Amino acid sequence: MDILVVGGGASGMMAAISAAKLGANVTIFEKNDRVGKKILSTGNGKCNLTNLNMDLSMYNSDDRDKLRYCLNAFSEKDTLDIFGQLGLMLKNKKGYIYPLSEQASVVLDVLRHMLDVLGVNIKTGMDVKDIIAGNGFDVITDGSKHHFDKVILACGSYAGFDDKKRKNVNSYDLAKKMGHSIIPVLPALVQVVCAEEYYKSISGVRCDATVTLYNENGAVGRERGELQITDYGLSGIVVFQLSSEISRRLERHEELNLVIDLLPEFDEDSFESFISGRIKSYLGENVESFFLGMIHKKLSALIMRLCSLKPTDIVDKANAGDLYKACIMMKTFTASVSSTKGFENAQVCTGGVPLTEVNEKLESLYQKGIYLCGEMLNVDGKCGGYNLQWAWTSGCIAGSFAAADGK
Ligand SMILES: Cc1cc2nc3c(=O)[nH]c(=O)nc-3n(C[C@H](O)[C@H](O)[C@H](O)COP(=O)(O)OP(=O)(O)OC[C@H]3O[C@@H](n4cnc5c(N)ncnc54)[C@H](O)[C@@H]3O)c2cc1C
Repeated sequence: MDILVVGGGASGMMAAISAAKLGANVTIFEKNDRVGKKILSTGNGKCNLTNLNMDLSMYNSDDRDKLRYCLNAFSEKDTLDIFGQLGLMLKNKKGYIYPLSEQASVVLDVLRHMLDVLGVNIKTGMDVKDIIAGNGFDVITDGSKHHFDKVILACGSYAGFDDKKRKNVNSYDLAKKMGHSIIPVLPALVQVVCAEEYYKSISGVRCDATVTLYNENGAVGRERGELQITDYGLSGIVVFQLSSEISRRLERHEELNLVIDLLPEFDEDSFESFISGRIKSYLGENVESFFLGMIHKKLSALIMRLCSLKPTDIVDKANAGDLYKACIMMKTFTASVSSTKGFENAQVCTGGVPLTEVNEKLESLYQKGIYLCGEMLNVDGKCGGYNLQWAWTSGCIAGSFAAADGK
């Protein structure tokens, strides 16, 4: 059985290893000059390769039942096992799994070593332009034709690509040619651009916050964690975790706001009593001192300005309504979402080939012998190792079944 894997990223390498282990002759065509380039930049160069706190709620997909089936068929524990077999020592940081060496390059090294041991034929600089189904598949690259019994599409997404690079991506066209539809591919795990003019003045602030995403009808998402404020808007883990939802809703032209709770330790009641106590103890002092030590100075300066308070105003002489408004704003600081920072800055994409259009072996429902895995499919996870877990899961399933079916 001759199997071609198109794309030598995380999912493609796992697919190739899984198929070769079952005795298939496996070739990888990778259009870059080397395989696994993206792995090197994962987890800030440390590669967060899975997460022990695995839950379906960490993912977005059009077919949650199939996703659940796949994540059970090849789970985070299987990831630990397989990397253990590859000789990779691992480190567990509160459930987030990294290589012990904290070097993403080592993850790539062990995968490449196993591809080598299994005799997988890696051909780089091979951009697959077309796949023609007949008796098996004729695969067209620049000026040459190759024949394979089965093909696994593991071509990734637009994540990290500028407009120019995106124009050269034809992987979704390969899937379309097989009869697949494409759910709009949009940036995810990405920063958010906000409409207000004042972001430059608060740029550089990092704080713990609860951020709630609202559309016209109410709250549609909430995350707690580190928020980073930049000169264009918002970044940080909390915003990344909401960004896939934001992208899809922006695509539907929904009006979106992010409401930031800068003092998330307080619930409504405890905040009311904290503030009334604080006002009493700051009587006679100025408003600047009142806010000092509660939130970042840049934020309190902005909140005072937005609520028409002067730093020199005396707490008991300041307009009570304005002071109250400023206090409330610390728990409901609102940012209007204009856009995301685009594919170029995105770590992954949401959208792609619907998971409903493949079976549980990840074989195309429209073209027997074609399998799909990785980000090409409409599955995107939150930060924390969930996207690589999907790459390992889907790669292993597609590779194993491609090799086992019809043997
Ligand atoms: C900066 C950054 C940090 C990240 N950190 C993490 C992390 O710590 N943990 C985590 O879980 N996830 C992380 N991710 C996400 C994760 O890296 C991806 O979800 C995962 O690598 C996707 O694997 P893939 O195989 O689907 O696609 P890719 O890794 O993108 O591989 C696809 C491959 O296919 C090739 N290809 C495409 N079209 C063709 C064609 N026509 N012919 C031949 N070859 C083709 C491409 O060149 C590419 O090499 C991060 C992503 C980025 C960008």
